[in-house]
Amino acid sequence: MANHNLKNKKGWIELITGCMFAGKTEEFIRRIRNFTYARFNVVIFKPSIDVRYSETQILSHAGATIDAITVSSSQEVADIVRNTKEQIDVVGIDEVQFIDTGIVKVLNDFADRGIIVVANGLDKDFKSDPFQNVDQLLVQAEYVKKLASICRVCGGNANRTQRIVNGKPATKDEPIILVSGNDHYEARCRHCYIKPE
Ligand SMILES: [Zn+2]
Repeated sequence: MANHNLKNKKGWIELITGCMFAGKTEEFIRRIRNFTYARFNVVIFKPSIDVRYSETQILSHAGATIDAITVSSSQEVADIVRNTKEQIDVVGIDEVQFIDTGIVKVLNDFADRGIIVVANGLDKDFKSDPFQNVDQLLVQAEYVKKLASICRVCGGNANRTQRIVNGKPATKDEPIILVSGNDHYEARCRHCYIKPE
């Protein structure tokens, strides 16, 4: 008989991804609350670039909130977890595409050491190109929940995010990361999505 010992094998990565307006943050908060309810020791991070709503809370479009530590680098995430005295069971990270690419190794190291990682992030930027970190985590995560939205134009199944500037689709020269500004975003299906030029 094989020498199975699952009791020693905790630690994995869960990824929640998809386009905007798909309910990713709702799902992220739901998942984190499940672990908190079961009395896991949970720490949540979010990149400091995402200042849309609050410096210390993650807020879904539907209004749910959880507390989070704002960080400016993957090294900071690694340091905080290493320097926390009590054992951390679950690490959550929101908007994982907005932190440096070192986060992929940091999260894998956590999972290797027995921590459950719950990452949330956009899979595609407004040009429909793969977003950093999420592209890697899609391959490496044990569990992937890919959520879709409803197309703002036709009501079909939307898995892309269209950035609109002054009423028109943004051009490809616009910066990838632009969280707060005069632009806005729409969930769109592949047929209604207009590739930036
Ligand atoms: Zn459509």
